[in-house]
Amino acid sequence: MMSFQSPASKLPHLGTTIFSVMSELAREHRAINLAQGFPDFDCDPHLKMLVKHYMDRGFNQYAPMPGVPELRKVIAAKIHSLYGRKPNPDTEITITAGATQAIFTAITALISPGDEVILIEPAYDCYAPAVLVNGGRVVPYSLGPPYYRIDWNKLGTLIGPQTRMIIINNPHNPSGMVMESRELDALHSLLKGTDVIVLSDEVYEHLVFDGKKHQSVLGHSDLYERSLATFSFGKTFHNTGWKMGYAAGSEKLMKEFRKVHQYNVFSVNTPLQYGLADYLSNSSTYDGLSDFYQEKRDFFAAHMEATPFKPIPCGGTYFQLFNYGAISNISDVEFARKMTVDYGVATIPVSVFYTGGTDHKVVRFCFAKKPKTLKAAGERIVRAL
Ligand code: PMP
Ligand code: GLN
Repeated sequence: MMSFQSPASKLPHLGTTIFSVMSELAREHRAINLAQGFPDFDCDPHLKMLVKHYMDRGFNQYAPMPGVPELRKVIAAKIHSLYGRKPNPDTEITITAGATQAIFTAITALISPGDEVILIEPAYDCYAPAVLVNGGRVVPYSLGPPYYRIDWNKLGTLIGPQTRMIIINNPHNPSGMVMESRELDALHSLLKGTDVIVLSDEVYEHLVFDGKKHQSVLGHSDLYERSLATFSFGKTFHNTGWKMGYAAGSEKLMKEFRKVHQYNVFSVNTPLQYGLADYLSNSSTYDGLSDFYQEKRDFFAAHMEATPFKPIPCGGTYFQLFNYGAISNISDVEFARKMTVDYGVATIPVSVFYTGGTDHKVVRFCFAKKPKTLKAAGERIVRAL
């Protein structure tokens, strides 16, 4: 009798995500984990109390498919106050199980076999697999150190009749690059007269530094109609393990998004949605985040000054890139491994975010950590060098 054969893989070239690989390696070697992006401090006890309150009051059954209306309304008001446009909470906002599900759902709903999707590399690692599993084709546009800025004219040359979507990520993980409002104008100029969709991953909307302001596609009146933006409560409220987020944007796109969402998850965690609705209605819960994280960025950078690592400017996100060219010539994947095993500090090699594995000898550190963790990591690195 023939034994059961492995199925033909839909993603034959994919291994395990770098975030799992590096976190596992960090655990194995008891390294300080500055690799995977998550805070090592807890979320606000008041938020946990609100969630418990709703659980105790019996808010424990299915939420409405697009999310509880109270939360969608608060999100609409927040988008209005920050970006100047109020999405319709009934038709233009959907609560998701984190930004990852929102991104996968958007791509699945909108990308058909043969469609081209432009990715800006280094690109966050969940975009390409979602495109590929839906039969789409990835068209990469590469950024590089030290500034990782987009040349919009060059990017424009990639747009053709098969282009269906461009995915932007602002503030940009892993580079820390933050887009200016004129860049959204440039994007609009490129797309005017086409049916290209903009998927804008804005999970770090509140982590923009040096007095700058986040520029959302939701606040760009010309881009709005062709755009969906994705957000993550995990990033904003220090609870990545809750896997809660949302998508917002054009009704035309959201209609298709929800067709997939309703059969993908149907709806997401009810008591968390009610707790988040109460919590989010007070803007002081997110107003101070830029200062909070900018201080961490600067604190970590100050500790790294004593090392030959060369910092790359970080305007947003909770990641700081460093070039290690003055320390070693080995590949960034080997270097990240060596740092974990020999220095006791885990990082992410940036080449994994390029389709072609471009190695600029750059590694990414997450600074969403307590000062004592950042200090200890800096000390371990100084000692190892
Ligand atoms: N996009 C980017 C750029 C990210 O860094 C992350 C990680 N938070 C996500 C999406 C996924 O967010 P979530 O954890 O809410 O799924
Ligand atoms: N967004 C996080 C990062 O960039 C990782 C999330 C995950 O592990 N999937 O590190």
